Amino acid sequence: STWLGVMGGGQLGRMFAQAAQAMGYKIAVLEPAQDCPAAQVADRHFLADYDDEVALAELATLCAAVTTEFENVSSHSLAFLAERTFVAPKAACVSIAQDRIAEKNFFTDCSPKSKVLPAPHQVINSAADIDSVPENLLPGILKTVRLGYDGKGQARVTTLDELRSAYADMQGVACVLEKMLPLAYEVSVLVARGVDGEAVVYPIAENVHRDGILFTTTVPGPNVSDDCAKRAQDAALSIVGQLGYVGVLCIEFFVLQDGSLVVNEMAPRPHNSGHYTMDACVTGQFAQQARAMARLPLGDVRQHSPAVMLNILGDVWFDGETDQGSDQMREPAWEKIMGLPGAYLHLYGKAEARRGRKMGHITFIAPSLAQAQAQMAKACLLLGIATP
Ligand code: ATP
Ligand code: MG
Ligand code: MG
Repeated sequence: STWLGVMGGGQLGRMFAQAAQAMGYKIAVLEPAQDCPAAQVADRHFLADYDDEVALAELATLCAAVTTEFENVSSHSLAFLAERTFVAPKAACVSIAQDRIAEKNFFTDCSPKSKVLPAPHQVINSAADIDSVPENLLPGILKTVRLGYDGKGQARVTTLDELRSAYADMQGVACVLEKMLPLAYEVSVLVARGVDGEAVVYPIAENVHRDGILFTTTVPGPNVSDDCAKRAQDAALSIVGQLGYVGVLCIEFFVLQDGSLVVNEMAPRPHNSGHYTMDACVTGQFAQQARAMARLPLGDVRQHSPAVMLNILGDVWFDGETDQGSDQMREPAWEKIMGLPGAYLHLYGKAEARRGRKMGHITFIAPSLAQAQAQMAKACLLLGIATP
């Protein structure tokens, strides 16, 4: 049997493993944590640090191809693997996505063909850099250049003084200040590209965030015009082509109140906003990733049903405050959720529920978007989540 390897043991690795196993592949996971979502389902678990060269060499020897499920694996590890087996995406692509400045510079370089630019921004590497920040970048968002996700490592600032204190709180790490843009809504575009350069683009997804974390993805997006969808999809295809990327990649865009499109960031892997494809498209994003790695023809991206994806955070395990002031935990009533037509529940097997932690998601598919949205609203009521 043929083995495929994945760096990282989170839910993305788990769902990748499950999709690839359904196609007959054996899955090896390299992950330093013992009881992680992906290791629970993997055929083999290399319990090692991401830069452990002995484990990396063994993984490369076993596997016909290796991918990564999180973007912060070191490019050195990916390059080390690539000397020994087929690796997708390449270290150089992942490096760009790990660094907001490299990413924004790359998007800007792509813009003559992609027709989209990142938000106006300035690098902040020292307190002195703040003196040269132009007025028109405020109000803005200060973001760490590396390692931020789910809105972590960000601060919203309106004045230079607020910027100075927010930068001081970042404890000297490299940052970028982005102008706060007047968003109408947010979208993401999932693309897959094969080694032969053939690329496919999924239907555009409209995303709603709560507290910096993805809350729902709706496809087709109620706000998205055909023209906006085409511009974003063309931009995404142009960017993956210019990157020479192989595998599944997701690009986030802002749609501004004047209808213009701004490119925010990219994830060099399947993405939370692409989970809807598992239940609503002919080829789900994880099966697509397996195809790209195995160098098979890419699968059909056609969406067969309108879909709404709802993220399930650990918060729904908590029953509010008890008399002692500590939280009472209980498993949500999945049997009620599963009674809703067109509900597909995906739980990630995480040992412990914590507030803000992604525990699973539910995708609702229905003959019409309105029906899918209505089922999602019912699920929110059942789970005690404030309805949108
Ligand atoms: P992710 O979990 O998607 O990787 P992240 O921590 O990398 O998130 P961003 O996607 O850059 O952070 O920003 C999080 C959210 O903050 C965006 O989805 C958007 O709602 C808002 N945001 C970020 N940058 C801007 C901006 N320049 N103007 C207005 N809103 C913004
Ligand atoms: Mg991000
Ligand atoms: Mg983002």
